[in-house]
Amino acid sequence: MKKGILCAALLLMHTRLFCWGFYMHAQINYHAVFLLPPQMMIFYKPNIGYLTEHAVDPDKRRYAVATEGAHHFMDIDHYGVYPYNDLPRNYNSAVEKFSVDTLRTYGIVPWWILTMMGRLTMAFREKDERLILKYSAEIGHYIADAHVPLHACNNHNGQLTNQQGIHAFWESRIPELLAAEHWDFFIGKAIYIGDPAAFIWSRLLESAAAADTVLCCEREASLQIRPDQKFAFEERNGILVRQYSTDYALLYNGKLKDMVERRMRQSIFAVASFWYTAWVNAGQPPLDRLRNDSLSLTDQQEYQLLNLEWKKGKVLGRDCGE
Ligand SMILES: [Zn+2]
Repeated sequence: MKKGILCAALLLMHTRLFCWGFYMHAQINYHAVFLLPPQMMIFYKPNIGYLTEHAVDPDKRRYAVATEGAHHFMDIDHYGVYPYNDLPRNYNSAVEKFSVDTLRTYGIVPWWILTMMGRLTMAFREKDERLILKYSAEIGHYIADAHVPLHACNNHNGQLTNQQGIHAFWESRIPELLAAEHWDFFIGKAIYIGDPAAFIWSRLLESAAAADTVLCCEREASLQIRPDQKFAFEERNGILVRQYSTDYALLYNGKLKDMVERRMRQSIFAVASFWYTAWVNAGQPPLDRLRNDSLSLTDQQEYQLLNLEWKKGKVLGRDCGE
């Protein structure tokens, strides 16, 4: 039992550090590949291993680079009430009104996605295989983060309402329990996004609007279950850990009316559509004739460093599970 408790402690420490969880980010990039047109699929499918493995590089980077954290969220409720019109959607106007420091403190995820979109489009234009893969994997991460309601709200881990742990409950425990066997990933096809900025802002506003439901449903569920039934020793990745019990997770998911599945499906659709849009905007370069197809020494060193810092386990800046 002692060993079990130790594993549990280690794993709880581990799970609280990732946005959408490592597993879910990998799944979102993975499923997005199948929404692409054949001209893109011929390149993305053989590289699906890279796209899933590197889906979590941005989270690992939070352990190595202090400025990385702000790219993953936006506490938009800092800027008043829905739809937060006090916050200019244009970055330069927002900087003028609030300063770079304030914007970074409360997160910049929609603007960062647009920056990554510019980089990905450029990589397609230059037919640079290595950069296409890197930016595809990473923009997938940030887009997925923008779909998580608690990434769009100050009370991001229920810390203001005594609901600590809700962040990982929503974005890791529920999908890990249900996604593989019960969720439907037949999503259709990627679309061309005429206005990526408008698209991602509206997704972020949906997240912000849903945050209250995420918190309220958990509070409601917690009143319907005995405190000692909330947690249980159950298996996670083959190891016995103390976590939110299956019964409690199912109760919560029922109250959410499958919101987690819906947001995951919307993430997948958005990721594929951003990839597709970048490729179209770059003039639809043939993806079977690319250059620069191997990782440079600097890339390999960067990846090693990310893994090293991540294993040390100290987030620089905000930790999702704080
Ligand atoms: Zn993240």
